[in-house]
Amino acid sequence: MTSAPDRPLRLAIIGAGPAGVYTADLLTKAERDFEVSIDLFDRYPAPYGLIRYGVAPDHPRIKGIVKALHKVMDRGDIRFLGGVDFGTDITLEDLREHYDAIVFSTGAIKDADLHIPGTDLQGSFGGADFVSWYDGHPDVPREWPLTAREVAVIGNGNVALDVARMLSKHADDLLVTEIPENVYQGLKSSPITDVHVFGRRGPAQVKFTPLELRELAHSKDVDLVLYPEDFEFDAASEEAATSNNQIKTMVGTLTNWLVEEQDTGASRRLHLHFLQQPVEILEGEGEQAGSVAGLRMERMELDGTGNVKGTGEFTDYPVQAVYRAIGYHGSEVPGLGYDERRGVIPNDAGRILGADGAPVPGLYASGWIKRGPVGLIGHTKGDALETIGCLLEDQPGLWTARNPDEQAVLDLLESRGIDYTSWEGWLALDEHELALGAEASSTGPVARERVKVVEREEMTRISRGILTHHA
Ligand code: NAP
Repeated sequence: MTSAPDRPLRLAIIGAGPAGVYTADLLTKAERDFEVSIDLFDRYPAPYGLIRYGVAPDHPRIKGIVKALHKVMDRGDIRFLGGVDFGTDITLEDLREHYDAIVFSTGAIKDADLHIPGTDLQGSFGGADFVSWYDGHPDVPREWPLTAREVAVIGNGNVALDVARMLSKHADDLLVTEIPENVYQGLKSSPITDVHVFGRRGPAQVKFTPLELRELAHSKDVDLVLYPEDFEFDAASEEAATSNNQIKTMVGTLTNWLVEEQDTGASRRLHLHFLQQPVEILEGEGEQAGSVAGLRMERMELDGTGNVKGTGEFTDYPVQAVYRAIGYHGSEVPGLGYDERRGVIPNDAGRILGADGAPVPGLYASGWIKRGPVGLIGHTKGDALETIGCLLEDQPGLWTARNPDEQAVLDLLESRGIDYTSWEGWLALDEHELALGAEASSTGPVARERVKVVEREEMTRISRGILTHHA
């Protein structure tokens, strides 16, 4: 075992979302008897991962977490290197050469698979893909086919609520947010009238959170529609509704919506259905062949434990699009093991495990790629703390980098022609987006704080100081 030499521990963190920034911040603040030097990489030119590309634009409170992350990064003791794709631009071998330890905080951005017939039809979408589109993710197409009048959203988690809200809200009511112009235009053209959200279990088994659920009632010109036959509670539901405050609140909210008159004659409706399990996405005929024309659901009943069993009773809903919002799934990280079922890197409290099941020295994980796509953003802090704890325990043996010089990794990126971006670059892009917001406010109908730049090349150009005609 080597002891800490007289140079800082070089740490690379892959992924500059909340998990990566919290991990970097907690390590810089941790009690330790050695210096650290941290590089925070991201494949995108801008930082903030899930907050920039996963949180719905009409959630300014959650987007506001960016302020805390900004403060951390703006201190100047963590170096941001954006626009660097792990696995292509830089490999595990490269990182081993330049760093003593590496933390993977790559998150989860893919949709979990739904195994029913018809998911490949045109008009069947992953909720996570739609989120990427409306959040102006640089790697998704700019156009989204918003042609359906009736739409189904499968799932009873907060992502299903985000997707349903974004689909049902009028585009003009989203103009105050940071939505990019193409998203505003896309949503503006949508002929949608009805959004049906389906949960496979009952109202006491929803995975929503109370605040996000209540927010549904605040969309202008959108009526909520609920169905008495869906309000079934078994012993486990009663128990959950008395012992869990969140469930109690949400069951109360849903029941009030059921009994109070919600029909105001709005031009759009958001239906909440429970105890309906998707069985098949139905294909159209004739000109509609190859496209979604409906969704077949099976009525479920509670089995006493909060789980459900099928009743054999089926209903076909005429919808022209289906959004699957049944959870996220982490992607395989090149060179590391992968738990296909859970979508995580196999790890023990954040120590990455090799094929033999033993920890691989110097490799760690934090955030959703460590524990799976569950919990709110704040929960990631505790998880990062656990990973940092492991690293601090292991540190006497970590000083292994052959070329730890801070400039060496920049030289490597430059030698490969990689247009990496920096923290100063992000500040320039941030300022540019705020200026676009100010410009839109002075010429448009509402005040806009920010308008996001979407194209990767444009983000990179602005970050690297080569401003375009928008400047
Ligand atoms: P989630 O909370 O795990 O919800 C997934 C939903 O999909 C559950 O209702 C689940 O039902 C359902 N589901 C799973 N497999 C299904 C199947 N085969 N058929 C039908 N339904 C199925 O996942 P999420 O909505 O993706 O959210 C991920 C995390 O991000 C959560 O912690 C969430 O709170 C957080 N988030 C928060 C916000 C916010 O605004 N605060 C916004 C977005 C996301 P069962 O319960 O029956 O399994």
